[in-house]
This record gives sequence, structure tokens and C-alpha cells, in this order.
Amino acid sequence: MSEIKAPKGTRDIFAPEVHKWQYLEAAIHAYYRKFLYQEIRTPIFEHSELFSRGIGSETEVVQKEMYTFRDKADRSLTLRPENTASVVRAAIENNLFEIMAPLRFYYIGPMFRYDKPQKGRYRQFQQFGIEVFADDSPQVDAEVIFAAVDFLKKVGIVQLQLDLNSVGCPQCRPAYLQLLRQAAHAEEKRLCPDCQRKIAGNPLRIFDCKQPGCADASRAFPLIGDHLCGECRDHFAAVREALSWMNVPFHLEPRLVRGLDYYTKTAFEVTSGQLGAQNALLGGGRYNSLIRELGGPDMAGIGFAAGMERIILHLERLAAPQPRILFVAYQDPQWLAHAVQLAQALREEGYPVAVDYQGRNLKKQFKKADRLAAAFTLVLAEDEVRSGTVSVKDMASQEQSKIPLKDLNAWLKKNY
Ligand SMILES: [Zn+2]
Ligand SMILES: [Zn+2]
Repeated sequence: MSEIKAPKGTRDIFAPEVHKWQYLEAAIHAYYRKFLYQEIRTPIFEHSELFSRGIGSETEVVQKEMYTFRDKADRSLTLRPENTASVVRAAIENNLFEIMAPLRFYYIGPMFRYDKPQKGRYRQFQQFGIEVFADDSPQVDAEVIFAAVDFLKKVGIVQLQLDLNSVGCPQCRPAYLQLLRQAAHAEEKRLCPDCQRKIAGNPLRIFDCKQPGCADASRAFPLIGDHLCGECRDHFAAVREALSWMNVPFHLEPRLVRGLDYYTKTAFEVTSGQLGAQNALLGGGRYNSLIRELGGPDMAGIGFAAGMERIILHLERLAAPQPRILFVAYQDPQWLAHAVQLAQALREEGYPVAVDYQGRNLKKQFKKADRLAAAFTLVLAEDEVRSGTVSVKDMASQEQSKIPLKDLNAWLKKNY
């Protein structure tokens, strides 16, 4: 039989890397609690319509990247490519807008996109993110941005850059899009076929294209920042002011647009130059029309989503805390029961403990202790069992001491 491998674009995560994931996840739970975010867990698959309505049927994600399938009852289902639409759907369906306060959510989980796999990018990838509903204050934008940048700093990522822009609103964007379309039409021949198609759909996305011709042509295009309505301008100015209160440096990036249709006003992206070229770690912004679009109340929303694989790559040098293992050995199989009971007692105290059950000689047990990189090996032999003691060997210094069992805890507390 041929060997079965994990599907392309997926991967297994195990020790020692998995320690970084545990560290990162624990940090997320602890950090966002301080801002009253509550975790939300939504299904991994949803009705496909949620994403075509909530992300935009014109988007790359919906057109090319979704894992969509029919179930046995011929429903069209999709593995979630992102989580904001699901969180909004959950809030509407469970009436959370009425029964929860504050309306602040965070999530951690796998997302799925049929994308070209590359370093740090997978078809099943892990994101965490936050969402705040029902508050259109510019200070909330600033706080969400602060909670993105500050968190990355706290987990040890350096050389962070925050790019900031406003993408307008339904009042000011349509007129701007017309101007942009005109400019893009004039340069149509220089644009790649993809961007030529974007002119009619969402010309903003031409700014995202990495093709040199498109990047060149778009440099002369009109910018949304020069065409914001009064409300968007005031909101953006207040966001920047609040960021300065919070001591968050930012870089204005007038060509920063988000790939999804529902974004309004504030848009931001955080990158790190730590691994050479600037790498986007997270992106987010306001989406004041999404909740109504999905059948909910006319209510503001803002959030971000962060790519955890990328963050883990940046944690490469983080020394994963290695557990210090205690190995309980026994000189003769007749002391196995004592060894098992000692191991149980030590685990109760919180130590990671290993016992070899195979009844092999002491030399082999010590070899196993070495392979496990045990910090201490505790030996039970006739002498020890009779006298209620245990021989403890410090595996690094090779020093051995005989400790009365009743003092073992205190001894470990001092020497572990
Ligand atoms: Zn506006
Ligand atoms: Zn292009």
C-alpha cells in the first residue's frame, strides 16, 4: 500500500514547535481578557452563502480560494476562509446583540483557503482575531489597533510597523470609485488581466496587485484620502489623535485597502521587518455595513485577524520552556508498585514524571532517563523501600543523595 500523506497545504504540528503554539494561545487568552473580550467558537463550515454575502462575491477569496462542497442533502457548504462573517452570523442568530455586553469577541482557530502554499502560508491556517460591535467611536478603532500592536510586542515580535488608512464609507466611496475607474480605464493597457477585470468590480483592489505594470500605473491614481466625506475625515483624524494618546506610532499608507468588500473607514495592517522583507502579520479595520448586510441590525463593527503561522515564524528564537522531567527508576520489578505510587504522588505535586514499565535493569532505565533528558532520576531499591527513602540523582551534575520520602517534596522545591 502506498504511503498516505497529509493533504497539500496542511501540516502536522508537534514538539518542540507545539510549545510555541501553546504559549501563543495562552498569551491570547490572557491578553484580550483585559479588554473584556470573550472567546467565541463558531463552526468550521458554514453555508456558502454566508461568505459570498459577507466577504463579497467579487473577491479573490470567494471566487478562487474557497473549499466549497455539497453535503449529502445537497447543501452548499464552505470551510470558513475567515471568521468575521461567522462571528456576525453567530451574533445575529443567537441574539447576542441583545443579551451580551460588551459586544467584544475574540477567536482562535483554523481557516481554509485554496491558495498557493509557501513558507508560512498554508491551505489550512490558524488565525486569531477580535471583533467589537455596536461602537463607532474613533477611540475604539485606536484601542483595537493598540491591542493588536501591543500584543505582538508583548509576545516578543520586534520591528513592527503599523500602516494606517481610511477607505471611506458608502457616502464618499462611490464618487471616489468613479474617479478611480476613469483613471484605471485610461491606463487599462498597462494593467494585468486580473486588474482589468477589477475596474468594473472593485477597482480599489488594483492597489493590492504586485505586478510591476499595475503598481506603476496605480501610482498616479487618485487616492481615497483626498476624497473622504467630512464624517470620514473627522473620524480618521480622531483615530490618529487617540493613537497618539496611546503612544502607538503609525505610518499613513494611502494605498492600503483591504481585500474584502465590507470594510469602511479605518483600515490597518501590522508588519514586521524582523525576518527581512516586511511581512504582514495582521490586518483589520472597520466594517460598518457588514452586520446589516448579513441581516442584523444597522450596527458598527471593527476587528482584525492575525496569521498565527507567521507569528510563530517570528517566535523562532523564543526558547520553548522545556519541562523538567523526573524519572522514577526501580532496581527490581518487585518495587514497580512503589515506583508507580511515587510517580503518582509527584504528579499530584505538579511535576512531569516518567516510569519505565518494562521491568528492565537499572542501567537501561537510566539510559531511558537520559533519552528523556530527565532532570532527576529517583531510584527505589530494597534499601530505600525498607528505610522509607529514595536515592535522587541529579542527571546534570551526577550527584546522588538519599532523601527521606517525607522530605522529598521540600527537597525538590529547593533543587528542582
Ligand atoms: Zn465617508
Ligand atoms: Zn494587476
